[in-house]
Amino acid sequence: MKQKPFGNVARPVSVIGQGTWYIDHGDRSAAVAALRKGLDLGMTHIDTAEMYGDAELVIADAISGRREEVFLVSKVLPSNASRRGTMQACERSLKRLKTDRLDCYLLHWRGQYPLEETVAAFEDLVAAGKIQSWGVSNFDASDLEEMRDVAGEGRIACNQVLYHLKERAIEHSVIPWCEENGVAVVAYSPFGHDDFPSPQSSNGKVLQQIADTYGATPRQVALSFLTRQPSVLAIPKASSAVHAAENAGAGKIDLKKEDIAAIDKAFPRGREPHSLPML
Ligand code: NAP
Repeated sequence: MKQKPFGNVARPVSVIGQGTWYIDHGDRSAAVAALRKGLDLGMTHIDTAEMYGDAELVIADAISGRREEVFLVSKVLPSNASRRGTMQACERSLKRLKTDRLDCYLLHWRGQYPLEETVAAFEDLVAAGKIQSWGVSNFDASDLEEMRDVAGEGRIACNQVLYHLKERAIEHSVIPWCEENGVAVVAYSPFGHDDFPSPQSSNGKVLQQIADTYGATPRQVALSFLTRQPSVLAIPKASSAVHAAENAGAGKIDLKKEDIAAIDKAFPRGREPHSLPML
């Protein structure tokens, strides 16, 4: 599995990680097996959030005895992101995850509390060793600019944002801002949540043709395309070990220039929207 730098975090992080939204909704033992298979194959970046129901409990089982391998990320809800509320939310997540620290802790999206309050809590949590780093999610370039002014240079580890073949808005301003400022970009819903191009569609056929030349699958090609820029990592969610193994396989593919150009043409980036799309 390829690794990439992750903002101000000292160690590199797996390019393909594991999302966990809705992972608690199906067979939990299959979900635990999927996450463990993912870890076996190097998808050590695990993403969760206090918002994701019992996902943190499922992860606790999956990482039991393997905490050192994992780059563990959770998120505070904006409605809890006051200085005190952030500290308390973090303690609750640590308890559910059965761990003593998070590798990165994110503000899930911008809400009513001033950024200063959330940043003060994040920095207190870093000082206390409860989190190793912090970042944001669903921030556009102007939000990031404001956050940098509040927190200072080099404090934001990552920005987790919506990015898939049919939604490439972050390519306009968010990725360039993050690359200039040493912030990792984490692509969420890299398969469009549940909207992956069908094999019958004309653009789906382009993916399949490219996949065939690498002995790969269309989803592996999609993940490879999305992570083609140096700052971008992706966190597909899989609730079966078979899906997890397929996704991990993307970490080995290096797309040729002509294949990137063909995907770019089949899934055009479009104009920059007025506001950043999010799920
Ligand atoms: P996604 O990863 O784009 O897609 C998940 C869907 O793809 C599931 O239905 C899954 O099915 C299926 N899938 C995965 N691997 C597959 C494979 N190899 N073959 C066939 N189907 C496969 O959607 P997502 O869960 O929305 O996004 C990923 C993660 O990003 C989330 O889980 C969450 O951690 C994070 N996220 C963050 C935000 C935010 O605001 N920060 C928002 C949304 C998501 P199975 O479950 O059956 O395997």
